[in-house]
Amino acid sequence: MPLELNDVFVTPDRSIDIDDVYEYDDLSAEGEQLVVSPVRIKGQIRNTGGLVELGYKAEFSYSKPCDRCLAIAEKVFRQDFVHTLALSAENEDTDDIIIVAGYTLDLFSLVRDDILLELPIKHLCSEDCLGLCPKCGHNLNEGSCGCKKEAVDPRMAVLDELLQD
Ligand SMILES: [Zn+2]
Ligand SMILES: [Zn+2]
Repeated sequence: MPLELNDVFVTPDRSIDIDDVYEYDDLSAEGEQLVVSPVRIKGQIRNTGGLVELGYKAEFSYSKPCDRCLAIAEKVFRQDFVHTLALSAENEDTDDIIIVAGYTLDLFSLVRDDILLELPIKHLCSEDCLGLCPKCGHNLNEGSCGCKKEAVDPRMAVLDELLQD
């Protein structure tokens, strides 16, 4: 349901509170479908003397396989977004401006776009995830597998050093 913004555009200091929950079933990252919780949206659209600004916080949790060990890892996404809303692109530097044609804003789509742009590219179950054994595929977070260590990969050599500290 698009938001009607006629009132807020023509009335200085007028504001609209946003407090909603959106459900998306089509979010994906790098071609991978994400399992997401409903997205909690809280914020405000406010006319600040000629400029109409939208500010909101989005919060939800999502899960997908860890980049290193492939175990499903859940993360919380929590981020603030600010946009300037305008009725047309005339005389404006359009980069940061959301055009609100006909005084209606499709907040549902805007939130989806915002989220997809800000989702972290790297997805790790933990910062020090040990990943999988390159030989047998064992998840090294669950203990070592007994394979002989061969530091062929310099990144693995660095990791070995770190582990010995
Ligand atoms: Zn991991
Ligand atoms: Zn192994």
